[in-house]
Amino acid sequence: MTAAAARAAHATGPGTATPSKPSPKPARPAKKSRRKPDPIKLWTGRLARQRPGLVRFTLEALAERYGHQPWVRRLDPTSELILTILTQNSADTNAEKAFEALRAAYPSGLPVERHNPGPGWGGDGLADGAPTDWMAVEIAPFEELVEVIRPGGLPNQKAKGILATLRLIRERRGDHSLEFLGEMPALEARDWLTSIPGIGKKTASVLLAFSFGLPLMAVDRHVDRVAHRVGLLPAKASADDAHDYFLAMLEPDEMYEAHVNLIRHGRVICHARNPEHERCPLIDRCRFVNPKAP
Ligand code: SF4
Repeated sequence: MTAAAARAAHATGPGTATPSKPSPKPARPAKKSRRKPDPIKLWTGRLARQRPGLVRFTLEALAERYGHQPWVRRLDPTSELILTILTQNSADTNAEKAFEALRAAYPSGLPVERHNPGPGWGGDGLADGAPTDWMAVEIAPFEELVEVIRPGGLPNQKAKGILATLRLIRERRGDHSLEFLGEMPALEARDWLTSIPGIGKKTASVLLAFSFGLPLMAVDRHVDRVAHRVGLLPAKASADDAHDYFLAMLEPDEMYEAHVNLIRHGRVICHARNPEHERCPLIDRCRFVNPKAP
């Protein structure tokens, strides 16, 4: 035993020496919680780096071909909503027939309204007529309503959707008017509408853009197809996601015209089958035609 050890043993007495406790390990710094990167920000950044100017090129080329599109109110918002429900999975011309039948079967005494279909609309435009009496529709017998809207296609499904939508609006608001939505910020108004079962971002955006000029982009199958083909959207982005990609890519005052001209382009040139590439003003930058297009 060394002298120092002997002194220590003596001071504590025999058998009482306790091994010194190991000092506690220093606490590890808390791991920083890593947020998943926002896929929309990632995409828009990548698009700007790898294909600079593509968004502006697309908008300008389409405006040159189809013209600039000043906003005009198409219909009152409740009529716009019901008309949009009637267009789901149906041609716009058939939705028009069903909507005109609704107006004839359940007329209101309100002043005649003009339909301003604009170039993005695929039908002939509604005849002038007073808005429908939505309360009369809501209390109509289900089978009767189904017969009235039958020309629009899928009448059972759409009658259910229309009745549930009208009931919910009245329960929340006391009547069927949706004019209050025009006073709300665009995304809050969209959230209000999409909280109604069966109303998605597309229907909500159509209503808010066409009835109030709110800066929202409605993505229907034409817009979705053209945008994917050109490469404005990631290949895996769903049509639902595409709404928010467009909100990040476009300036608020570009959305209405972008919607109208992309729809028009999808209808007249970039068809689902046999797109007419040779007539297309986007061909030089279209990834569908050339996977390496700039
Ligand atoms: S080049 Fe063809 S695929 Fe591309 S946007 Fe034009 S029509 Fe559509």
